[in-house]
Amino acid sequence: MNGYMGKILRVNLSERSYNVEPLDLDVAQKFLGSRGLGVKIMMDEVPAKVDPLSEENKLIIATGALTGAPVPTSGRYMVITKSPLTGAIAVANSGGQWGPKFKATGHDLIIFEGKSDKPVYLSIEDDNIEIKDASHLWGKTSSETTETLEKEIEGGKVLCIGPAGEKLSLMASIMNDVDRAAGRGGVGAVMGSKNLKAIVVKGSKKVPLYDEERTKNVSREKVRTLLDDPTAGEGLPTYGSAVLVNIINESGIMPVRNFQESYTEEADRISGETMTEDYLVRKIACFRCPIACGRIVKMPDGTEVGGPEYETIWSFGADCDVYDYDVINECNRICNEYGFDTISAGATIAAAMELYEKGLIKDEEIEADGLSLNWGDEEAVVGWTKKMATREGFGDKLSKGSHRLAEEHGAPEVSMTVKKQELPAYDPRGVQGHGITYAVNNRGGCHIKGYMISPEILGYPEKIDRFSLEGKAAYAKTFHDLAAVIDSIGLCMFSTFGLNLPDYVDMYNAVCGDIYSNDTLLEAGSRVWNLEKLFNLREGIDSSHDKLPKRLLEEPIKNGPSKGYVHHLEELLPEYYEVRGWNEEGIPTIETLEKLGLEEYKKYI
Ligand code: SF4
Repeated sequence: MNGYMGKILRVNLSERSYNVEPLDLDVAQKFLGSRGLGVKIMMDEVPAKVDPLSEENKLIIATGALTGAPVPTSGRYMVITKSPLTGAIAVANSGGQWGPKFKATGHDLIIFEGKSDKPVYLSIEDDNIEIKDASHLWGKTSSETTETLEKEIEGGKVLCIGPAGEKLSLMASIMNDVDRAAGRGGVGAVMGSKNLKAIVVKGSKKVPLYDEERTKNVSREKVRTLLDDPTAGEGLPTYGSAVLVNIINESGIMPVRNFQESYTEEADRISGETMTEDYLVRKIACFRCPIACGRIVKMPDGTEVGGPEYETIWSFGADCDVYDYDVINECNRICNEYGFDTISAGATIAAAMELYEKGLIKDEEIEADGLSLNWGDEEAVVGWTKKMATREGFGDKLSKGSHRLAEEHGAPEVSMTVKKQELPAYDPRGVQGHGITYAVNNRGGCHIKGYMISPEILGYPEKIDRFSLEGKAAYAKTFHDLAAVIDSIGLCMFSTFGLNLPDYVDMYNAVCGDIYSNDTLLEAGSRVWNLEKLFNLREGIDSSHDKLPKRLLEEPIKNGPSKGYVHHLEELLPEYYEVRGWNEEGIPTIETLEKLGLEEYKKYI
């Protein structure tokens, strides 16, 4: 069981019971654990077309083989379920300390089934597992819940939902260690629909290692590589992910006012440099991370809170035409406390502002809330964030995301979403490969599961022409497969600033045994990606959903260094399907499924 603890915890919330089942090691290795294994369980156990917020849906919280192992950035866990926001597969990842502490209880993953009739939380102290009453926690924010449970179980680590998850907001996230989020796809609403408030874990077990000495040496070498890298060793530790603000803006791909523009003269007011100089209190790191990109920042009243990531700075900042860290930090604080996806939240406010600008949201709809929808209204951006999280007034409409909002107001094209999920902080018209990632991502609009910004802007693993279409489909496919590997083995995506495929093979094999080569590990990533695709096909989400918003295809960028460009998805998509081994309709062929060992799912193609 090297790398794995060998146990699956299955909790039936309807019956308030649980079972501990053996992990099938062959299956775990084939799908790499975490994201891959979770998607396989969703495919095998959840019937097609279930309502994501019904008790038929399952919620899986999974670690990878390297989660908790003594290798760099091994603090990740994954939430896998059917998304209530998109109807597609949801795979939302988080760092911090919770994942390794859960694995230390001796379990690799938890499958939650059914629905409790009353609020409960799950307590796992090694083999001592209890489903406990959580009525005293219902309505509490993530810091209140964490504080209460850390007192009840001394030394425990807490994962929870906030009020947004309880109220089934389609953007609700799952929080751990107070301000770390498995943010996207409304996974917090699935947890809320099961009346599951929290999971508190306390464990004493170590991840079994195939070769301890080799693991130590490999780890030392990878830490050195990361620390020597200018991004992982300097840019991220010094400025956090906010280091991207000036870089992305200077490339002319920072969306402004709901992607109406792509460059702003104001960017430095919300840059990583400004955050570091004027707001940073200290840096924090996830479990075994030498990069330490986490931030603690100060608020105007002197309190200290978790600092915003680049995407959050953008969504509440440039996307809403706001350039004030006090405002962005407050929105970030609300999202963390209420358990809410910062990307979807800010981007939905931006879409609402454009709908209002166009006269499609009327004053009558929002006057009772006492908040405007004018670009740059700082008080309104904070106010709407809170109202969205609590589903109050017009905030209830916003809490369902910009796709539903824009459709309801007769202008679906105003929603900058793919598969109903809001796009993050990069305008793909100036990064053609990154646009492929947006369009084909199985979980909807997402940057992280194939971060083509790395080669197209930052030069990792090499600098490529961001405007060119040549070779981009194949490049993007490799990135998608590599991201599936990194997620599934339980490491942080920021480790790619320094580490490459052979480094992940080294670490996996040292921990788990000599199982994978470069080719076979990447192929395992492709297996995971294809299985997610099959899940979506089963749900009726076919390749007609591999789209980008019309604006990005038809309206050239208006200003800045990428002025004049549109995205050429139509030219790139056929090539992407081809390199994937899919047919012209974007459906995996039987040969591809056989090659990947997925032939048992051929009925879905
Ligand atoms: S790079 Fe940042 S997000 Fe990733 S593990 Fe390290 S501290 Fe956490």
